[in-house]
Amino acid sequence: MLRQISRPAIGLLCCALCTGVATAQATDPAPILPVLEKLKSVTTHPGADEIYDLVRKRLPRISLGTVYRNLEILSKLGEIQKLETGGSQKRFDGNPKHHYHIRCLGCTRIDDLMTDKPVNIEKAAARLTDYKIVGHRLEVLGICPDCKDKGFLQ
Ligand SMILES: [Zn+2]
Ligand SMILES: [Zn+2]
Repeated sequence: MLRQISRPAIGLLCCALCTGVATAQATDPAPILPVLEKLKSVTTHPGADEIYDLVRKRLPRISLGTVYRNLEILSKLGEIQKLETGGSQKRFDGNPKHHYHIRCLGCTRIDDLMTDKPVNIEKAAARLTDYKIVGHRLEVLGICPDCKDKGFLQ
């Protein structure tokens, strides 16, 4: 379920968060909800281009720049995640909760690995180093079933 966000609230948050694009954002905060809804409706961890194609079906005049800006704002608001993957294109996740991912080296598909932390990496890192640990990133790499069937890396 989408959390209800009121349009005026989004307008205010946008202006406060993205000072660089405040003017552009303040004039048109409306697309943020369709962008959020489309991203929450898929589990494919799409890139901005793909989300643009989905949102354009409903808002034919929206620009890729507007979609991108709204994705940046939504990730700053904690409504979505921007994935720090090794792939070339930035990918987005409609699920803002911490979870792990597995990425195919053949087609760059990304799936969720909804496991609980199997090893407490942060505790281990704190034990092994003098660092103050503030978080961690983990990405599992592999070959997806489709690419396996096509003989990728055989
Ligand atoms: Zn694949
Ligand atoms: Zn995910």
